Amino acid sequence: MVKLAEWRGKELFRKYGIPLPRGHVARSADEAEAAVRSGAVPLPCVVKAQVLAGGRGKGGAVRFANTIEEVRESATAILALEFKGERVKELLLEEKLPIAKELYLSLALDRGARVPVLITSAQGGVEIESVDDASIDRQPVDPFPGLAAYEKRRAARMLGLTGAARAALDRLLDAVWTLYNREDAELVEINPLAIVGDGLVALDAKVIIEDDAAFRHPEYAEIRDDRTPLEEIAREKEIAFVQLDGNIGVIANGAGLTMATLDVLKEFGGRPGVFLDLGGTDDPKKVTEAFLLMAQARPRAVFLNIFGGVTKCDTVAKGLVEAMAQVPAGERFPLVARIRGNNEKEGVEILRHAGITSIPTLRESAQAAVAAAGGAP
Ligand code: GDP
Ligand code: MN
Repeated sequence: MVKLAEWRGKELFRKYGIPLPRGHVARSADEAEAAVRSGAVPLPCVVKAQVLAGGRGKGGAVRFANTIEEVRESATAILALEFKGERVKELLLEEKLPIAKELYLSLALDRGARVPVLITSAQGGVEIESVDDASIDRQPVDPFPGLAAYEKRRAARMLGLTGAARAALDRLLDAVWTLYNREDAELVEINPLAIVGDGLVALDAKVIIEDDAAFRHPEYAEIRDDRTPLEEIAREKEIAFVQLDGNIGVIANGAGLTMATLDVLKEFGGRPGVFLDLGGTDDPKKVTEAFLLMAQARPRAVFLNIFGGVTKCDTVAKGLVEAMAQVPAGERFPLVARIRGNNEKEGVEILRHAGITSIPTLRESAQAAVAAAGGAP
């Protein structure tokens, strides 16, 4: 999922002709001041933290400034914020427009219905989750013909727009629809969509690009960063490692066996946490490295499920025993193993020497792993 910061969303809005306040991005109080002095942003203006979390308005991350001094003050204050765990590194400065009313509008993929849904509400400016259901209209849209005239009419009625504002809404809806499709978005949200004079202006922008289409968008490669610190280390070491929120660590090889192992643990009431896929490695050092990374995630128990092919059982066993010895005493955890396939005998023997029994069947070994992690909840 590629969540775009407001200013990036607004760059897309500009590209598709969605009306915006005049604005400028700044990364320091000096840059903020310069943006106003140069006339790129007229006073009075709005200074907004560019963080991905919502609720900035209520949380002091959106401020208004009437003078250059206030711009500096607001910029400095917001840049010092850690907003919902995220350091503020960028600001968006925008002209402050006279708002007659704040509306809500979004086009969002409904995975259940398998179509985009046009969502509108006359109660904009607050988080949509806090608006009562009766005040929200949801229209599923057939993706092939796109927005129909009657759907636009219904949106206009819902938002209470007539005359010039109604025409502005029609243009805006076409732009949102085109952006959503051409940019592979799964969400385009404008909240608030402000009535200013007899026109409409997007005061906020939330755009999420669909993960499955991210490969078509190299422009977002640098911001596509939802890895945990351990996953980041793993990536550098070229280890396939994913952190979920369960408490059983899984080490398997091959995507198929790894996924199946997670499923089986779940089946027996376990909560798989970190998993790593040794893939086709046949280097005990690599196994050691991977295991130590797993240990840092502090699992309650680890389930090793290996089918020896290119990755031979004794290679894995060697690497593992080596790694176990390196885990500090206070951070040890029970290990349940099932290793089958190439060089199975040798592998099982190496494990036995280290006091680990390999359980040959999947059912029993998975159950043992769930029990070792404290049992099913
Ligand atoms: P969010 O709280 O993170 O969703 O941030 P928003 O971008 O939605 O801003 C919060 C609120 O600030 C909006 O609902 C508006 O009331 C106000 N706001 C934002 N931009 C402007 C602007 O250009 N003019 C005025 N008057 N208010 C604005
Ligand atoms: Mn908003």
